[in-house]
Amino acid sequence: MTSLQSPYNDMLDNSTFVKYDYRSGGSSDNDKLRAALRGQDPLIYFEALRSGVYAAHYPVYVVADDPAAEVFTIAMEESLRFFGDPANMSIDQRRYAERTVKARLHQPAFRAKVMHAYEDSCAICSLRHLELLDAAHIIADHEVTGFASVTNGLALCKIHHAAYDRNLLGISPDYRIHIDNDLLDEVDGPMLRHGLQDMHGGSLNLPKRRAELPSTEALALRFEQFAA
Ligand SMILES: [Zn+2]
Repeated sequence: MTSLQSPYNDMLDNSTFVKYDYRSGGSSDNDKLRAALRGQDPLIYFEALRSGVYAAHYPVYVVADDPAAEVFTIAMEESLRFFGDPANMSIDQRRYAERTVKARLHQPAFRAKVMHAYEDSCAICSLRHLELLDAAHIIADHEVTGFASVTNGLALCKIHHAAYDRNLLGISPDYRIHIDNDLLDEVDGPMLRHGLQDMHGGSLNLPKRRAELPSTEALALRFEQFAA
């Protein structure tokens, strides 16, 4: 298995396939990619988000080698490799491919952007343990209004993500935290007391950059579900 890095000019030709330029200077990377094409070996593709920061996509597959253009074609989702070279795909196959890969391809980049905006910290409780943090969507990804922009995201720890998804915890458009009324009345251990009830009425820890603030429209739409 080879790790690809993309510090060069690997443009996403659409959301399904990546054109990957031959490495220059007689690099053995090109031979490895040809071998991966023959063997249909899974690879990891590191998409450069900004200097030194990558989103990992796995598994991806080399599906075509164009020596004239000195470029490989990488399928960004496993099922796409069975179509082979996208140049020979039918319109139906291409539509299927784009639909299949859309959500998955954007997920790693979405997480990386959200974690960066919130400085690897839960927006509710400030927990700073990446392995316990999720990039939560304000409006679910599968809904028409859901979108993979950082402004539709919140960095939440596992417990606050689950509570938000189940409307046990709400966030109003003025960035205030609300805990479900029934939950406020319950008596239980320290997780309920400190982890949830104590958060009621507090305000969200927000990204420093204005452009990364959670969308108040999205929060308002979502808060209606909590309030109902
Ligand atoms: Zn939290």
